Amino acid sequence: MSEADRPGRIGRAMSEASLTGWEAIVLTPSPDMDHLVGHAPRPTERPTLLVLRPDAGPVLIVPALERPLADGSPAGSLAELRAWRDGEDPFALAADALAGASRIAVGDRAWAAHLLALQAALPQASFGSAGPVMARVRSVKEATELDALRRAAAAADATFADVVGLRFEGRTELDVAEDLARLLVQHGHLRADFTIVGAGPNGASPHHEPGEHVIAAGDAVVLDFGGELDGYYSDTTRTVAVGSPPDGFDEAYDLVHRAQQAAFESVRPGVPAEDVDRAAREEIVAGGFGDAFVHRTGHGIGLEVHEAPYVVAGNTDPLEPGMTFSIEPGVYLPGRFGIRIEDIVEVTTGGAERLNRSTRDLQVVV
Ligand code: ZN
Ligand code: ZN
Ligand code: ZN
Repeated sequence: MSEADRPGRIGRAMSEASLTGWEAIVLTPSPDMDHLVGHAPRPTERPTLLVLRPDAGPVLIVPALERPLADGSPAGSLAELRAWRDGEDPFALAADALAGASRIAVGDRAWAAHLLALQAALPQASFGSAGPVMARVRSVKEATELDALRRAAAAADATFADVVGLRFEGRTELDVAEDLARLLVQHGHLRADFTIVGAGPNGASPHHEPGEHVIAAGDAVVLDFGGELDGYYSDTTRTVAVGSPPDGFDEAYDLVHRAQQAAFESVRPGVPAEDVDRAAREEIVAGGFGDAFVHRTGHGIGLEVHEAPYVVAGNTDPLEPGMTFSIEPGVYLPGRFGIRIEDIVEVTTGGAERLNRSTRDLQVVV
């Protein structure tokens, strides 16, 4: 990957925080910390704490045994490292770095035990979520991030193109899930993170775990899969039919297809995120399946599969060029079948662009 402008990201985080009255940000191991300083240790009971203040350089408090790891990461040159040994109190170091700050924003991934200890060490300070601040820093993607997301989407598309050529009938959901995982890696993913295969009635459970269910002729099959490529994620869904689809399927499929297109066409800078959800939902409600569309229309994607902006009723945040998120309306009919069509899209200055290009026309498999 090319060099990220981490000082620029830290500067944006600080100015976003100041705008909402925060005097400091504290992050623990998380995609937020990784994004800002390039240090991504495994979160454990030993706290690692990144302290950011507007009037001082970044301070990274690390367990002494992980100091070499921190030193070898971009954080080694971006932040002042303060190591603590087992038996010493890391929260005393944090209280020192945070002296005088009365409003402190804490990253959403902080363990409760760590936040509670930080609160005990700074009894005068008030604490809140750094989530909205970090969402504003991360949700508009930089050019190199968009490039990675584009490559991840293309690899997922290539995976779908291959999987529709494989046999479905007579094999289990797990067999097809293994095919998806293998193909994602073959097409350039570091690893597959999820491979939902929901055949027949199982497709009506949006997050169905693939199992020993044997796929039969006449099943609709929901395929929702993705993984990590160069630190960024893919996430796409297509629904295929094994031979002739079940009664009522074609009409419902057309409806979901139209809803997905309507949502896509609603995307442009300045539009509140919830309007994209509404565009999809209006189609599905008008088609008589409103109660069967049981989830939000989409979620942002980047360093995490699910991140801001969420495409959901109540999110009035305006879309901005460079934001990336899924559009994935669905219809779920318990005991019968499910349908979902999901693409990742990028907000552009003129509207939107799909990062996934797989056909959305119904694919019939054998
Ligand atoms: Zn989902
Ligand atoms: Zn998905
Ligand atoms: Zn998704």
